[in-house]
Amino acid sequence: MAFTSPPSYRTLTGLYYIFTLVHTAVSTPPDDPVKCVSGNMNCTVTNSYGAFPDRSTCRAANVAYPKTEAELVSVVAAATQAGRKMRVTTRYSHSITKLVCTDGTDGLFISTKFLNHTVQANATAMTLTVESGTTLRQLIAEAAKIGLALPYAPYWWGLTVGGLMGTGAHGSSLWGKGSAVHDYVTEIRMVSPGSVNDGFAKIRVLSEITTPNEFKAAKVSLGVLGVISQVTFKLQPMFKRSLTYTMRNDWDFEDQAVTFGKKHEFADFIWLPSQGKVVYRRDDRVPVNTSGNGLFDFLPFRSQLSAAIAIIRSSEETQETFRDVNGKCVGATIISSTLFATSYGLTNNGIIFTGYPVVGSQDRMMSSGSCLDSLQDGLITACGWDSRIRGEFFHQTTFSVPLTQVKSFISDIKSLVKIEPKSLCGLELHYGILMRYVTSSPAYLGKETEALDFDITYYRSKDPLTPRLYEDFIEEIEQIALFKYNALPHWGKNRNLAFDGVIQKYNNAPAFLKVKESYDPKGLFSSEWTDQILGIKGSVTIIKDGCALEGLCICSKDVHCAPAKGYLCRPGKVYKEARVCTRVDGIVSVI
Ligand SMILES: Cc1cc2nc3c(=O)[nH]c(=O)nc-3n(C[C@H](O)[C@H](O)[C@H](O)COP(=O)(O)OP(=O)(O)OC[C@H]3O[C@@H](n4cnc5c(N)ncnc54)[C@H](O)[C@@H]3O)c2cc1C
Repeated sequence: MAFTSPPSYRTLTGLYYIFTLVHTAVSTPPDDPVKCVSGNMNCTVTNSYGAFPDRSTCRAANVAYPKTEAELVSVVAAATQAGRKMRVTTRYSHSITKLVCTDGTDGLFISTKFLNHTVQANATAMTLTVESGTTLRQLIAEAAKIGLALPYAPYWWGLTVGGLMGTGAHGSSLWGKGSAVHDYVTEIRMVSPGSVNDGFAKIRVLSEITTPNEFKAAKVSLGVLGVISQVTFKLQPMFKRSLTYTMRNDWDFEDQAVTFGKKHEFADFIWLPSQGKVVYRRDDRVPVNTSGNGLFDFLPFRSQLSAAIAIIRSSEETQETFRDVNGKCVGATIISSTLFATSYGLTNNGIIFTGYPVVGSQDRMMSSGSCLDSLQDGLITACGWDSRIRGEFFHQTTFSVPLTQVKSFISDIKSLVKIEPKSLCGLELHYGILMRYVTSSPAYLGKETEALDFDITYYRSKDPLTPRLYEDFIEEIEQIALFKYNALPHWGKNRNLAFDGVIQKYNNAPAFLKVKESYDPKGLFSSEWTDQILGIKGSVTIIKDGCALEGLCICSKDVHCAPAKGYLCRPGKVYKEARVCTRVDGIVSVI
């Protein structure tokens, strides 16, 4: 049964964005992901969304907060001597997957919250050395102080250097060494378990020249080699960028997607497949003396009024309950046109948007996240996904499709949209499909080829057994990417099924495992989850009733979907090998 959009939706969305545009200064900072019952003992950890893919709670006996490398060494040594399991936690814990968890309840969390200082800045050598808990925001600011810039980076400020290296985080570029931050690192200091002779902990200084194999392993380590203490970046002289967003019809998008990134250094796309549109980001490097003082303070990363976010969430819950497809599509159109009209938060001078191109220096244009700003306002405002408010709650499916396969993949998605044009409005309600370029990396667990990374965000019910509108379409896209085109999932995002057999997609996995074996032979920094994704032990798949709804499995039986609600396990519509939870008419008339 379909309902039209409530008349208040347009007003609400408009008000919400007007508020977001003017309300940039305050926001309750995100919660600490580690919580302990008494002092630093008996702790739990979660991620910034407050829920892991399997919704479990991860525990440890205690958390340590080293403030110096020497303290870090003694923490690792004591835990190694005691044979305890360890994992690194960060200030915000932004990875969706269970990377941060350690096994059982006796383990140790080592937080990098206070390891966030600049160690050395060298303008002449164009290098910057920071501790691993330094956030991307600090890194960019510290580099700018000495006239330097990190050329490519994730769009969100809140990631730490250790965390973004842990999962191979990236921005968008096919140029230079590509968009992954770890490929601009020249030295890593790591503290890993040691023998009795080492005093149970060992500081390893890694670089391309002195320890090439270990360096390639440590660049994207999933936290299984030990704790990165310090990282040195090779930076570039500060430059400016000139950015223009253009919205176009998507009729030739499969061709454009393959070539656009070769023409524009910081190109990306927001694809709105149900609307048949694409927003092209034409973004190029320009000389530092080009006029312009633009600022990119991305709207969804600004502080949000909690009450407005809660109403928007309730509205989507209502649309899901009443299968209000049209409401979702109307809402999606309003959101995408509002974001486009407000230039996604770009301004020409830090205050207002007067027109394209927006020219600004790299440190003001690359990343943002003003909702991190730390004035306490009792959660009247927060980052939109803060789990303490009744805010956004979503799945995020993110994978890199080899550039050679992108054309076919986009055609497959278009074929699905042809079958049901409104099927992907739900993605557009969550910004649309963000697509960014990545290149092959020497890192053993980095990207294998030039690729386009697809970031898909969609509704997640608070009830794990409740199916989603058109979930079969999204599940099919996920399986097409991962299994037909061999896409690589982002290590820090995605649902469990994305990691099924993932390690076989990495040619250098054996080399990585060899370094892991020599650094941490007892697997103290490993966990059930890292053993599963690295193919060492066990499987990421969790089979139980309703498991496919949350991406814990690919359905093979109807009970893996929601038969009582009319969702049965069926083959894909375009990719027949897919198995997806499909709503079958006549089984249940109204949910
Ligand atoms: C709002 C938002 C925006 C995002 N934007 C992007 C983006 O633009 N591009 C992108 O690629 N990704 C993006 N991500 C994903 C993000 O980059 C990764 O999940 C990243 O790993 C999170 O960094 P973190 O500092 O929060 O680390 P965590 O999630 O806490 O940790 C990630 C892993 O690194 C390990 N680790 C952390 N520090 C160390 C250390 N010092 N030594 C050894 N291991 C360590 C941890 O144990 C864990 O295994 C985004 C996530 C969010 C929530």
